[in-house]
Amino acid sequence: MPDKVAVIIGAGPAGITAAHELVSRTQVKPVLIEKDDCIGGLARTVNYKGNRIDIGPHRFFSKSDRVMDWWMKMIPLAATNDGPTEISYQNKSRTIEGKGPSVDADKEDRVMITISRLTRIYFLRKFFDYPISLKVQTILNLGIPRMMRIGFSYLRAMAFPIKPETNLEQFLINRFGRELYLTFFKDYTEKVWGTPCDQISAAWGAQRIKGLNIMKALAHAAKQMVPKGSDIRQKDTETSLVEQFLFPKLGAGQMWDIAADQVREQGGEFHHNLNVERINVEGNLVKSVEVRNSQTGEKETFEGDYFFSSMPIKELVDAISETVPPSVKEVSDGLVYRDFVEVGLLVNKLKVSDDTPTGKQLIKDNWIYIQESDVLVGRMQIWNNWGQAWLQTLQKSG
Ligand SMILES: Cc1cc2nc3c(=O)[nH]c(=O)nc-3n(C[C@H](O)[C@H](O)[C@H](O)COP(=O)(O)OP(=O)(O)OC[C@H]3O[C@@H](n4cnc5c(N)ncnc54)[C@H](O)[C@@H]3O)c2cc1C
Repeated sequence: MPDKVAVIIGAGPAGITAAHELVSRTQVKPVLIEKDDCIGGLARTVNYKGNRIDIGPHRFFSKSDRVMDWWMKMIPLAATNDGPTEISYQNKSRTIEGKGPSVDADKEDRVMITISRLTRIYFLRKFFDYPISLKVQTILNLGIPRMMRIGFSYLRAMAFPIKPETNLEQFLINRFGRELYLTFFKDYTEKVWGTPCDQISAAWGAQRIKGLNIMKALAHAAKQMVPKGSDIRQKDTETSLVEQFLFPKLGAGQMWDIAADQVREQGGEFHHNLNVERINVEGNLVKSVEVRNSQTGEKETFEGDYFFSSMPIKELVDAISETVPPSVKEVSDGLVYRDFVEVGLLVNKLKVSDDTPTGKQLIKDNWIYIQESDVLVGRMQIWNNWGQAWLQTLQKSG
């Protein structure tokens, strides 16, 4: 019998991982309280009549060996003949070796696959490579006058960089020139983050697109023209330009479904449709949480020996209320959250297609950046291109 109880707020990746660690390594029983009717949080996979849709694209990457090992213990890497695999996410990259028995992605569902990223930018009602490459098609798409404006404004930015560089707009102009910034960065970034680029810190740009500038993009374009060998390592490539990532075959949520099953098997409890509204504190200790059932409106109290929270910080601080120091409350009140809406469309075919030697086929993009300022969509995911599962789903549904 477990000695103690840990109340965990939220059954997203953080809550489920905490619960899994507890059942694997302690005698503490995890009790997860989730306000939604499903698990996985922002990393869930929604299964709509057999069609699996993630909440946004998820690439599995961590700098920590422990985290990578944890994931691959949960879902083993598919067998590969190509040796070590280089994966990347947000300017970091690493090499992973398949540990333990490799599994066959064609036969098994519980398998982590490697996806070669293909993404394009939709702008001027045309497709552009992402990252932008200096192909003839790019020049034709942009037109000679715009290309000249891009070239001159880049030279101007190099000769007269904006100083001090405090916001994202200045960060991008200093690296790409004003015209390229207006063409490919401004509208998309503002759509996604809901904040004008001149109100986002330059440090954000440094973190997201560190190391990427026009000279590196040109060098990358030149490298792309040289035929590649079978080596899929991408050691010298800036991460914003890199093409490979790991993904569970049945979607990001498969990771959390498997981990949650293991937690249940080892005695953990999941409670759904319960919204934590209040955290009761005595002295410096949390004693219990008060929840309201979103279906029945009933209130309930959960007591525990340990408490973990993965609910938004702002709401957590509000729920603790009077015992929070004013300076902490002021900071949490100032936190800004961005809503995210995803619309899943099941379509028989797309108007656009790729020409291949065997005829027209579904475009290969994993996602498309919608740069057009008059289209109120930031990104379009094509889930069929994310793993065998998506393709099988489409074939089954005809
Ligand atoms: C579009 C998009 C793309 C992403 N891409 C990647 C990627 O490629 N790679 C990557 O590693 N990460 C990615 N992420 C980030 C990743 O999804 C999050 O880091 C991760 O989901 C955070 O897990 P979490 O458990 O901390 O929080 P969440 O996933 O937010 O889970 C929190 C849980 O707590 C519940 N909850 C909240 N408030 C309460 C309450 N009061 N009472 C009870 N329950 C509550 C919520 O319903 C939710 O289930 C992406 C996110 C988005 C939105």
